Amino acid sequence: MIEMQSVFKKYPNGVIAVNGIDVTIKQGEFVYVVGPSGAGKSTFIKMMYREEKPSKGAILINGIDLGKLKPKKVPLLRRNIGVVFQDFKLLPTLSVYENVAFALEVIEEQPKQIKKRVLETLELVGLKHKARMLPTELSGGEQQRVSIARSIVNAPKLVIADEPTGNLDPDTSWEIMNIFDEINTRGTTVVMATHNKEIVNTITHRVIAIENGKIARDEQRGEYGYES
Ligand code: ADP
Repeated sequence: MIEMQSVFKKYPNGVIAVNGIDVTIKQGEFVYVVGPSGAGKSTFIKMMYREEKPSKGAILINGIDLGKLKPKKVPLLRRNIGVVFQDFKLLPTLSVYENVAFALEVIEEQPKQIKKRVLETLELVGLKHKARMLPTELSGGEQQRVSIARSIVNAPKLVIADEPTGNLDPDTSWEIMNIFDEINTRGTTVVMATHNKEIVNTITHRVIAIENGKIARDEQRGEYGYES
């Protein structure tokens, strides 16, 4: 599903964030991306949804070369990839329901279908009863559940998460990770950058460790491998 071939990323300021990465991620995998701060994890992940373009090399998602994707095709790509951020990025003036529905409204899904999908997805993340609330009325963990619901409401085949538990307490982090695990069990590929050592070592999955812009380790049932 995702293939990187000799990928490099040099930012305009001269920093080489990704320094020659080759990797293949198959449909249905769950991959943790770990490594020290500044190692290139976010850059690696951002290139998968075309937030950043590689300076050299190819990134293929289901055979489409993202580096060569025309700007007008980017929205279509993004519709097929769910993205979850550390800081949630919810729209503050919209209700929980509206934040999740938004992703379907922009693709002009039928209103009846929108309602069904949004309520089903809110149920999956345990927030159907808070559909009318505003994000500010929710806890951090609940806000992250809304952002997960928003990322999967389109039923994407791939969900990418950059430090999704970075702002959450340990108990809430476990709840959030269990939701990602459930999403993966249903067949969605999950790629997640994380510093959560305990979770990586307990809910074991493939671990890709990035150091100085290169893959330092790639293990099928890996460990976090660093001090937190
Ligand atoms: P990580 O997610 O592992 O902390 P990043 O991918 O954010 O690593 O950063 C890798 C390197 O690239 C760091 O040296 C960082 O300062 C640099 N970097 C990240 N984003 C940019 C940017 N937009 N412009 C310039 N340098 C950047």
